[in-house]
Amino acid sequence: MLIVEGQPYAHALGKIVCVGRNYADHAKELGNPVPDQPLLFIKPATAAVSMDKPLVLPEGLGSCHHELEVAVLIGQPLTAASAKQAEASIVGLGLALDLTLRDLQAQLKKKSHPWERAKSFDGACPLSAFVSPEGVDLSSIQFSLKRNGQLQQQGDTADMLFPIAQLLEEISQSFSLKPGDVVLTGTPAGVGPLVSGDQLSMQLQDRLTVEARVA
Ligand code: ZN
Repeated sequence: MLIVEGQPYAHALGKIVCVGRNYADHAKELGNPVPDQPLLFIKPATAAVSMDKPLVLPEGLGSCHHELEVAVLIGQPLTAASAKQAEASIVGLGLALDLTLRDLQAQLKKKSHPWERAKSFDGACPLSAFVSPEGVDLSSIQFSLKRNGQLQQQGDTADMLFPIAQLLEEISQSFSLKPGDVVLTGTPAGVGPLVSGDQLSMQLQDRLTVEARVA
């Protein structure tokens, strides 16, 4: 269930639209070229789980990486929207983990297959509650992930190749976004494997602190 400012949101979670390689330092760490257009993929609503519950990783499929991302909750329909309309449609900001079966993804990439098997499994998208975007400068949101007390990922939306409003505008040129859809805006460098028992502490400025545990 989507929670905004402590209240259940009026719309159920729709699709989760993700962008790959939106931070140059992360593209580099995986040896990928920096794209000239956002690289988009979708996780179904069945991939979403709350960060409140222990995170269950798939077994026997190789390493499962954390990718901490700023999540944007859409509150207005967007079809071929302008950046301004896109920005006005945002009703919540949160944190998400774009969990990725990295070994499986590498195999899929090699075969030029889509990534869904590596990124869209049940539980592949732990989501936090959302806070209001009011008063938050979308072009400079700092966020971070500590794993077992060690700082692992530290991002700033100022470093995005495609800033949030432009990203939503771009997405809406290809397909519509609807209220209840969530957009994951890309991960900064520092991704790595999770193992059973890991304690995660995630922060979105001083607006949101989330503790999670890997089952
Ligand atoms: Zn990602």
